[in-house]
Amino acid sequence: MDFRERVGERLQALDREGLRRSARAVDGPQDGQLWVDGRRVLCLCSNNYLGFARHPALLSAVREALDAEGLGAGASRQISGSMQLHRRAEASLADFAQQAASALFTSGYACNVGVLQALVGPDDIVFSDRLNHASLIDGMRLSRAQVVIYEHADPDDLARKLASQRAAGRGALIVTESLFSMDGDFAPLRELAELARAYGAGLVVDEAHALGVLGPEGRGLCAELGVAPDVVIGTLGKAFGSQGAFVAGSEAAVDLIRNRARSYVYSTAPSPALAAAAIASSRLVRDAEGPRTKLRGHWQRLRQGLRELGYRILPGDSPIVPLMTGAPEPTMALSRQLFERGVFVHGVRPPTVPVGQGRLRIVPMATHSLEEIELALAAFAGVQR
Ligand SMILES: *Cc1c(COP(=O)(O)O)cnc(C)c1O
Repeated sequence: MDFRERVGERLQALDREGLRRSARAVDGPQDGQLWVDGRRVLCLCSNNYLGFARHPALLSAVREALDAEGLGAGASRQISGSMQLHRRAEASLADFAQQAASALFTSGYACNVGVLQALVGPDDIVFSDRLNHASLIDGMRLSRAQVVIYEHADPDDLARKLASQRAAGRGALIVTESLFSMDGDFAPLRELAELARAYGAGLVVDEAHALGVLGPEGRGLCAELGVAPDVVIGTLGKAFGSQGAFVAGSEAAVDLIRNRARSYVYSTAPSPALAAAAIASSRLVRDAEGPRTKLRGHWQRLRQGLRELGYRILPGDSPIVPLMTGAPEPTMALSRQLFERGVFVHGVRPPTVPVGQGRLRIVPMATHSLEEIELALAAFAGVQR
């Protein structure tokens, strides 16, 4: 088989398994309703939780930054320097995360890959929640550390594995998301922090979905539970409404990451305009108590209404509402039927979730009205199952 045949064959294999992915065409900005394939539909599939992707204050901060510092960063930070907006953004984000220091990355994916590869190496051991995000998994692979997977959100299993696997002298890291991206449930952060302390392990928490949504002033689940991890990761692409990411921790941990993370050292720094967006949205997020309360009402109504309709919803108290569908074909069929009724929801298939655990990942936004949430429930009531 030559290259062209191999590519064609692999695409056909994805088709046969019902796993070929494609993106719908959206016209206009990301918002509570979208123009998709020429139709106006309710958007229940984005992580733009607070509707900040087109927030006027955020857009004007970016316009001002473009005028002041231009668009491109020119090179990586160690080559062409940390611009004023980079430095100010990192101070804002460190403050937001209640940590001593922070470093900007171009995306959460790049951040996770770089941070884990920077913090551990082949002589170390990483304890990883079974459901951790692909970017965390890829960072562990790149680090070449030994990886021990513990059962999802199960501190007892982690305790057993720490006791049996942790050899003295080896560096150890516990890695978890706080609000899990596909299951919408929480990590037992207090128990994990206690285990980390007892075993001298570092604790790395990815707050991608929790920042802006949970905790006092939207500071995340760690802040809500009073847990101070060694290193916290946040993306600016979700509730922050923009693009990019940051890692926060002690001065030393962040300095080590700046020195060793390949996705930081060998990649052009984020645009100063995105750094300005980070400053503006961390302020907006802190002041968004009203939108957060509204969002909470929406997810609670959706969860309750869908359960009353007889759907199987994974338990949780978060805006990520997983409606379990099983195999790829029924997952995508339900997503198509809902689209026909004006509701845009994303069907999630392997390898994003385990085989047999396909689902619709339903996500409301703070900018939705209660009427829109009721319309969504009516669409779910009307589809054939
Ligand atoms: C989305 C996500 C990321 C990646 O962040 P991006 O900024 O979108 O690259 C990392 N971790 C988790 C848990 C995520 O859900």
